[in-house]
Amino acid sequence: PVDRLPEIQEARLKLPILAEEQVVMEAVRENPCTVLCGETGSGKTTQVPQFLYEAGYASGDGIIGITEPRRVAAVSMSQRVAKEMNLSSRVVSYQIRYEGNVSNETKIKFMTDGVLLKEIQKDFLLQKYSVIIIDEAHERSVYTDILIGLLSRIVPLRNKKGHPMKLLVMSATLRIEDFTENRKLFPVPPPVIKVESRQFPVTVHFNKRTPMEDYAGEVFRKTCKIHRMLPPGGILVFLTGQAEVHSVCWRLRKAFPFRPNCTETGKEDQDTSEDRRSFKKTKQKKTVSLPRIDLDNYSALPVDEGDEDRQAGIGDEEEGSDLDLELGDEPGVSEEKSDPSLPLYVLPLYSLLPPEQQAKVFRPPPAGTRLCVVATNVAETSLTIPGIKYVVDCGRVKKRFYDRVTGVSSFKVDWTSQASANQRAGRAGRTEPGHCYRLYSSAVFGDFKEFSEAEITRRPVDDLVLQMKDLNIEKVVNFPFPTPPSSEALVSAENLLLSLGALEEPPPSGRLKDMERARLSCPITSLGRVMASFPVAPRYAKILALGNQQDCLPYVITLVAAMTVREIFQELDRPAGSEEENSRLAQRRARQAQMKRLWAGQGASLQLGDLMVMLGAVGASEFAGCTPKFCEENGLRYKAMIEIRRLRGQLTTTVNAVCPKAGLFLDNKMAPPTESQVRCLRQIVLAGLGDHLARRVQAEDLLDPKWRNGYKTPLLDDPVFIHPSSPLFKILPEFVVYQEVMETSKMYMRGVSAVEQD
Ligand code: ADP
Ligand code: MG
Repeated sequence: PVDRLPEIQEARLKLPILAEEQVVMEAVRENPCTVLCGETGSGKTTQVPQFLYEAGYASGDGIIGITEPRRVAAVSMSQRVAKEMNLSSRVVSYQIRYEGNVSNETKIKFMTDGVLLKEIQKDFLLQKYSVIIIDEAHERSVYTDILIGLLSRIVPLRNKKGHPMKLLVMSATLRIEDFTENRKLFPVPPPVIKVESRQFPVTVHFNKRTPMEDYAGEVFRKTCKIHRMLPPGGILVFLTGQAEVHSVCWRLRKAFPFRPNCTETGKEDQDTSEDRRSFKKTKQKKTVSLPRIDLDNYSALPVDEGDEDRQAGIGDEEEGSDLDLELGDEPGVSEEKSDPSLPLYVLPLYSLLPPEQQAKVFRPPPAGTRLCVVATNVAETSLTIPGIKYVVDCGRVKKRFYDRVTGVSSFKVDWTSQASANQRAGRAGRTEPGHCYRLYSSAVFGDFKEFSEAEITRRPVDDLVLQMKDLNIEKVVNFPFPTPPSSEALVSAENLLLSLGALEEPPPSGRLKDMERARLSCPITSLGRVMASFPVAPRYAKILALGNQQDCLPYVITLVAAMTVREIFQELDRPAGSEEENSRLAQRRARQAQMKRLWAGQGASLQLGDLMVMLGAVGASEFAGCTPKFCEENGLRYKAMIEIRRLRGQLTTTVNAVCPKAGLFLDNKMAPPTESQVRCLRQIVLAGLGDHLARRVQAEDLLDPKWRNGYKTPLLDDPVFIHPSSPLFKILPEFVVYQEVMETSKMYMRGVSAVEQD
């Protein structure tokens, strides 16, 4: 029996899903797999685990597991459900990559999808669960897709073993055919339950024109206008990334100042300075146009989590109305004019925001203020913010793009999909009729893709293929993917894994066709198993697996952690601002460059290039206690350094588990590597990055000036370059290996190290 507080019970009863409790529970009882669709906010995530709990699914020897594609949702939803059920976090718990509060009393466990995938590797039948809920399946994150494929096999196996388990797939969209109509996935189509939600009409207002350049400015002006002119009701703003979010927050706070009372000031001031910094950064990059964006604000994103596109469909649209706020050609509200008589309570919201900051959006705004949440698309479906009446949608989303053939990656801001835009609009109609302001024209909307593509079709899959091989799924091509990755992607993944020694070479065979087929079903090697146990990309896993030489392992772990977290330096290259700002920036740039030179070392260690700089930076920051102050003073990103520390801890534990002899511990006072260790590190790195080899173009081959100082790689027709900030820029070694090629103003290699030649 659950003992809920009266006010909680009252709020629950208003949720549409409560009316469907019987239907949902009956479907789950009668079927091994069930699909549940319902609009965001209808109560799926918070209520369904409670239904299952009350129906006894956690009273036997199994518990209830729920996966979320984002850490944010796993943490905040477990807290919310614990609160609703009046149970402690020992009973309703969460587990995300680095932390969790799962205990032996846990009955309901929220986790990221990556965590469940790891558990399947330990126990394929997931015997500790009586039911698994895959939440936010519409996001189509890679791990969600894989999990659904795996569970479609695990559930029947559990039934056969007489220890049944249930699967519940929950989705916000109605586009579920990839799950239900896919006979390879579910030979018997699972029942689909649709939860009707009380969605109030949302009037959609399109812009007449579509700003291509400064859409963040347009977002700001529109938000100001709504706040000045329209009746009370929260505003939810959709932007594409963290830096934009902070920049718009800062401008809005400046335009409509609100002084929080003293209990909250400390934290609040900190936010403001961060917002201010980001604003300066984005403002001066005003010329940033659609495809090209600043890398800086994405860099902290761990491999398994991003602000990716999601999709859904709703919305009651109509063009124009009395509340239309078309801005036309007027210059708009000046940001200099500050109006304290209209306080606006501005809160940022994005994946990497600390949970206590995120939690603020669920609380009512201070009396006399209007709530304005400036968010990335994390607010699109996974979190429901109460009291939103107005939505301002920039129509864009930031995505990582990979070139399928060359592996070159870039972050680009792209148009969102129609389904996504409708989902955003729907956020305005939760509590009363609302309005959505789309800062693009209806013609542009008409050109949007109907749905966003599943992530698995848009990125390399070498990590997934390795994980699957480790699960003894040899013919990955035959795996029941909801949407399969392209065969090119699968082939290049197998080839990479073969070259890393993670898979067994097939025996030579006469016919080319047979050869090709054999190459697509190679079993995993014991090295591959070791690699699969490390939570990093296969190339880095190989580096780790080779790391136990000449006492190099602590350096190798640090390097791999730094390479995985990426972008450890603050981005200080900005166009001109005020004189004072410029001189401050110049000082910080100089300091950063000086530190990079110091960390790059001299003589032999210089050859390790960018990787030596990373090692030195992490070493120095750990030595200094990894404080925000140290990072700020030396041009390091504090968040990246914290993430590296956590990953080092996790990698150290994993290495000790694989190889107890290593007896590693996390050393905060690591001496720089010796000359022979540097040499050893270069060889180890080469073994992992061998397919990322580039050769300097020789003077005699210089036919075209564009090849000056350029490097040739096997797959690219065009030259790639060493970045001027790299210690190897002045050396230009003949052969280098690199982490990746990132296209910004030029094709730059990142994470470059020189290859030793004898
Ligand atoms: P769904 O999963 O269908 O999108 P949820 O179960 O997440 O719906 O949300 C149901 C309701 O619970 C929403 O109206 C939301 O406002 C409310 N809610 C969710 N989390 C919190 C929270 N942390 N604090 C207050 N209300 C919340
Ligand atoms: Mg939900």
